[in-house]
Amino acid sequence: MGGTYKLAVIPGDGIGPEVVDAALGVLEQIGKVYGHQFVTKTLLAGGCAIEATGNPLPPETVAACRASDAVLLGAVGGDQWDDLPGDKRPEKALLGLRGQLGLYANLRPALLYKELQEACPLKPEIIGEGLDLLVVRELTGGIYFGPKGRRTTEKMGEEAFDTEVYSEAEVERIARIAFTIARNRRRQVTSVDKANILESSRLWRAVVTRVAADYPEVKLNHLYVDNASMQLVRDPKQFDVILTTNMFGDILSDEASMITGSIGMLPSASLAHGNFGLYEPVHGSAPDLAGQDRANPIATILSVAMMLRYSFALPQEAAAIEQAVQQVLAKGYRTGDLMNPGKTLVGTAQMGKLISGYIQ
Ligand code: NAD
Repeated sequence: MGGTYKLAVIPGDGIGPEVVDAALGVLEQIGKVYGHQFVTKTLLAGGCAIEATGNPLPPETVAACRASDAVLLGAVGGDQWDDLPGDKRPEKALLGLRGQLGLYANLRPALLYKELQEACPLKPEIIGEGLDLLVVRELTGGIYFGPKGRRTTEKMGEEAFDTEVYSEAEVERIARIAFTIARNRRRQVTSVDKANILESSRLWRAVVTRVAADYPEVKLNHLYVDNASMQLVRDPKQFDVILTTNMFGDILSDEASMITGSIGMLPSASLAHGNFGLYEPVHGSAPDLAGQDRANPIATILSVAMMLRYSFALPQEAAAIEQAVQQVLAKGYRTGDLMNPGKTLVGTAQMGKLISGYIQ
C-alpha cells in the first residue's frame, strides 16, 4: 500500500520552473510505479512573488509550506530585481523560509558519478571509482546569528565584531542528525571544528563526543577545519559524513561540491524538527539559461530523491531515482553543462523524461 504525501512546490524564477517541472515528472513516475500519491500545491516566492504581491515571501506561502509534509524549491532571483533594497529582494524569501520553517540542518551531498569523472578537477588516482560524501551543516546558529556590531574607541578607531555562540542543545540536535544519517551510510562521522583555538569549538567537540556514545555502530573522528579543507582535496575518499558549524559548513560544502564537476548536479536538503524539510538544488536561477530548455534538472531531481529519503522515509524510491540518474548518464546523455565530445546533448525536459523512463 502506497502513502499520500503533501508537497508544497515553489518553482521561483529563471530556470526554477523548468527544473522543478522536470523533477515533478520524475516524482509522478515514482508515484505510478510504487503506488504513492503526491498532492502538490504550487506557491509563489522570490521575484515572481514580488511581481504578483509586492512581497518576496507572501505569508500564504509560509502557511501552505507549514501545512505540507515537505517543500520543493527551484531557485529565486534575477537581474531585474537586483536594485531593490535588501529586505525586498527575492533572496529574502530563502532566509525567511529557513527562519520561519525552523530549518536548522543543511545536508549537502557531494557525489561524483564515475560517468562524470572527467568533469572532476582532481586527479583520477585521488577519485578512484567515484566519491560520495555528505556535509551536515548547522544552519541557524553560530557566528552568522551571534551578537554583532560596530564600535569606535579612541585608541583603535572603528571596530567591528561577530560572535560565534553555540549552546549544548544546538550542537546535540545537529549531531543527532549526522549520526542518524551515518547509520544508513558508511557509518563514519568526521566532526570539524577549531577546538585548538575556539571555546565554542571545545563545547562543540565535547557534545559531539557525548552524543556519539548513543551511536556505537558509527565511528567518530575530529578534524580541525584547516586540516579538513586540505584533506578534502588530498584524500576525499576518507570522508563519509562531515558534521560541522554554520560558517565552516558554508565554506567546506562549497569546496566539496567542486569535486562533482557541475553545479547542475548538486542537490540539498534543509531539515527542521521531525521529518519536515525543504529540498532545493544548490544552484541559483541561472538567468543566462532561463526559458531555453538548457538547464540541467538533475540537481532538482536528486533533491526529490533526498525528500523521499529524509521526509517521507522511502529509501527504496530514493535509490530508484539515483540509479535512474546514473543509468541515463551511463548511456551518454548530457545537458550542456556536462557536454563532452561523443555524448548526446539533451534539453531540460528531455533529461527529466529519460530519467523517468528508467524508473520501472
Ligand atoms: P547560478 O547558480 O544561478 O549560476 C551560476 C552559473 O552556473 C551560471 O553560469 C549558470 O548558467 C550555471 N548554472 C546554474 N544552474 C545550472 C543548471 N541547473 N544547469 C546548468 N548550468 C547551471 O548563480 P548566479 O549566476 O550567481 O545567480 C543568478 C541568480 O540566482 C541571482 O539572482 C542569485 O541571487 C540567485 N541565486 C539564487 C539561489 C537560490 O535560489 N537558492 C542560489 C544562488 C543564487
